[in-house]
Amino acid sequence: MVIDDHRDMSDIFLSEIDFNFLSIYFNKSSWKVVKGLIETKVKHCTCPVCSLICLEDSIECDDCYFWYHFNCAKCSAYYRSGRAKSWSCKQFGLNCERE
Ligand SMILES: [Zn+2]
Ligand SMILES: [Zn+2]
Repeated sequence: MVIDDHRDMSDIFLSEIDFNFLSIYFNKSSWKVVKGLIETKVKHCTCPVCSLICLEDSIECDDCYFWYHFNCAKCSAYYRSGRAKSWSCKQFGLNCERE
């Protein structure tokens, strides 16, 4: 998936707000799950190469769901255009599976 509509990315700013206020809407065990999902999403929006949040000109790995900047991943024009159906960091010698 390639970002061409940046409004879709507004949810990455979850990292900058305290989302714990949401916990009142969940019981303890389901909140644990929801919180984990949010934290995973935020983590995956951080480019594994430069450790900055991917806001634009970014591509998502179909294997690990990490986002990379086009420049960090050295994407070709084909991938930058959004015509590619899938992209995997491993194909390009990148490793997103970090701790
Ligand atoms: Zn980057
Ligand atoms: Zn990957």
